[in-house]
Amino acid sequence: MTTDTTTEWTSGPTAEHQWEQQLHSHDRRVTKQRLAVLAAVARSPHATAEAVTDVVRAELANITLQSVYVVLADLTGLGMLRRIEPPNSAARYETRTGDNHHHAICTGCGRIEDVDCAVGHAPCLTPGLDAGATIGRIVIADVLYQGTCSDCAAKAGLVEAPAPAPASH
Ligand SMILES: [Zn+2]
Ligand SMILES: [Zn+2]
Repeated sequence: MTTDTTTEWTSGPTAEHQWEQQLHSHDRRVTKQRLAVLAAVARSPHATAEAVTDVVRAELANITLQSVYVVLADLTGLGMLRRIEPPNSAARYETRTGDNHHHAICTGCGRIEDVDCAVGHAPCLTPGLDAGATIGRIVIADVLYQGTCSDCAAKAGLVEAPAPAPASH
């Protein structure tokens, strides 16, 4: 059973209109900076703050990395962006929020791809909790699959290098 609850963020007038409404509902002013950051992240999901800054600078030449960090942190706090923190890598940002999707990262080049929620609703992995577990109500399972992308596999002469499954259900 799959229900399509994914919000499709394209950068364009429709997305911009939705961002404006969301900013209003959070009592934030609609600024060029906020919209440009959202558009940049929508265009290149899982981008680092540096990469977002490069894109935003095409439009707002004077924006600093520091202000981009501030905007990214604020929008993440509002739930308009999701922040991913892969091991050994700078934080990445995406506009695809609230759908409990997971991520696969290539341990060779750091490329990140979305992996849909395995079950269709959160949490899609139910841990075998001890009877005495204090955190007994699991709300979210945020899984990071680690493996090798096809480019890196080809470069290393590997045919297939499947990552070990993190858990079985
Ligand atoms: Zn790779
Ligand atoms: Zn993602």
